[in-house]
Amino acid sequence: MTAITLLALGVLVAGRSAAPAGSAASIPRAIVIATARGESVVPVYADEGHPALPTPLLIPLLPMTQRIEHGWAVVGFAGQPFRFLLGAPVLEYAGNVVPLAGGAYVARDTLFVPLQWLAEHIPRLFREGYRYDPLAARFEEARLAPVVTRRATPSATRTSTVRPPSELARRNGFRMRHAVVVDAGHGGPDDGNPGRYLPRGVKEKHVTLAVAKLLQDELKRRGVSVVMTRTTDTLIDLRDRARLCSEECDLFVSIHVNSLLPRRGYQNVNGFETYFLGQSATAEARRVAAMENEAMRYETGYDPGEIDDPVDFIFRDLQVNEFLRESALLADLVQTHGAAVHPGSDRGAAQNPYFVVLREATRPAILVETGFATNRRDGQFVASSSGQQKLAKAISDGIVEYLLRYEAKVLLEARP
Ligand SMILES: [Zn+2]
Repeated sequence: MTAITLLALGVLVAGRSAAPAGSAASIPRAIVIATARGESVVPVYADEGHPALPTPLLIPLLPMTQRIEHGWAVVGFAGQPFRFLLGAPVLEYAGNVVPLAGGAYVARDTLFVPLQWLAEHIPRLFREGYRYDPLAARFEEARLAPVVTRRATPSATRTSTVRPPSELARRNGFRMRHAVVVDAGHGGPDDGNPGRYLPRGVKEKHVTLAVAKLLQDELKRRGVSVVMTRTTDTLIDLRDRARLCSEECDLFVSIHVNSLLPRRGYQNVNGFETYFLGQSATAEARRVAAMENEAMRYETGYDPGEIDDPVDFIFRDLQVNEFLRESALLADLVQTHGAAVHPGSDRGAAQNPYFVVLREATRPAILVETGFATNRRDGQFVASSSGQQKLAKAISDGIVEYLLRYEAKVLLEARP
């Protein structure tokens, strides 16, 4: 089952800005693992400051095993045990203790091993068997027969011995194909915010639709299928938006543009922020939610009292807890990527119990405020085609990183 899973992942990663090559100084974003069975792309993580690889993605490709005992990760490679002291740059194998630039570590229930191990120590020990090319960021079985690159669609590589995805989903909650619902905020009679510093005639609803369409393109390019809540200038009820993301959907993302009512200094406030459904809220979170919930005025059966009630969470419900935890991780990753390309400030990821659009979500869900239309620089950025492209790319980077991390975690949990 994992071969196809990994191919699906390979499609995802291959869509990232293709920069696998790297000098000794730069960290590749991904490496290629080439064996007689084909090629796969494995993302490289640098969360701890040095390049590391998630073992759940390596184990299906290479003759590897792993177990964790007494603070050590014991990784078997072709029957040879390698012992990593967790959290320390030390590796023990074949009777030697060798220092590493950075050690193995466990993050989000996943074991990460240093790229240095695969790039230097494996080729050294298995001289006839494996080699690593740092310029191509490619680890391969030596004396490999000519490799047919299999970057095919999953359906093209499926064989009769592979269980269909629906069965996989039943067995371990894991899906090979990824689906995301992208929501362009507002629409139709609901203009959203009027956009003081947007060009004449441009309202929030136009910016959200433009960014959402670019985000759809970015995600599709990386092998993620997308459902849009709207593709034209039309009104969709807030409650109906997140409902589009149900069982077969990985996550929901709603795109918006922020604004402030005129008061002293309001034009100076700027930046990018991401919200997820959560228990607590600041006054600012409440203000933003009230503004976005105004969309309900245009809906039939509008009840103004209802939208002020925060969601009552039953935190003992494990499923709700998991959903909130995943939403928080998703928000954090999207915020990190978004803030990195934004001319304004990094306003952070925050929980918020008031967003009606997120309340109906049964899957991880976030709401992105791409910038302030009441700030001149933010307004120009979100209305410009280059700004919209940067935003779409960054939000997509955050989403894909989330999907890869979630996948690695589920893969690990699914192992006996
Ligand atoms: Zn909005």
